[in-house]
Amino acid sequence: MNAIYHFHGDLPRLLRPRWRTANPIALPVTRATSIKDAIEAFGLPHTEVGDIACDGLPADFCRRVEAGQRFDIFPHPTPWDVTRPTILHPVPLPELRFVVDVNAGRLARYLRMAGFDTLYDPCWDDRTILAVLQAEPRLLLSRNLDLLKRKQVAFGRRIRADNPLDQLREVIVLFGIREPPKPFSRCLECNLPLEPVAKSDILPRLEPLTIRYVDLFGICRNCDRIYWEGSHVEKMGMLLAQMCP
Ligand SMILES: [Zn+2]
Repeated sequence: MNAIYHFHGDLPRLLRPRWRTANPIALPVTRATSIKDAIEAFGLPHTEVGDIACDGLPADFCRRVEAGQRFDIFPHPTPWDVTRPTILHPVPLPELRFVVDVNAGRLARYLRMAGFDTLYDPCWDDRTILAVLQAEPRLLLSRNLDLLKRKQVAFGRRIRADNPLDQLREVIVLFGIREPPKPFSRCLECNLPLEPVAKSDILPRLEPLTIRYVDLFGICRNCDRIYWEGSHVEKMGMLLAQMCP
């Protein structure tokens, strides 16, 4: 006898190609398996699942699949509040902060521009990213389905959009961000919050026009880069204002 799996929202698009059009899917139950493992066998990482119903009642990832059962698998609701406990995530994230893998490096830069705490290093392999997540709970933004399936990844999102600006918009909409935390408050290279620095302390490092027109400066105490509000800041601010709902 079969179990039925119905994937909702845009989840069918993330399944292995052979399952994408067969929704709902009916499959015989041939061995003891949890719904989490059954979902991932279809190609979908557990990180994409916001809710599971078994015969209409809420279920967690450990639910054993039995013949005759029907599972409805839903994506995360929009907006997704990662700080709220749910059946699938009883321990929420303390706050929204990210790790971005090498497939979405430009998104990492945009997120830092918008002020989000975003760890990213183009040299990090999958093992390092998993170690970073073990050290501090964060949400992994990635396009790597296999990485998102790893059990060390409690919170993650398979980025759908291709273009980095569309990816930023996707993140802003998904998490219902009405106002970015503090745009242009972080070093784009190190992710460290910038500290105010007196113009007189950095005068020799500034161009004459900058000295003339700019008064407020921030500095990264890690890499010593200096930041100030220029036309690029204004442009990005306008872009973010358009993206926030
Ligand atoms: Zn820096």
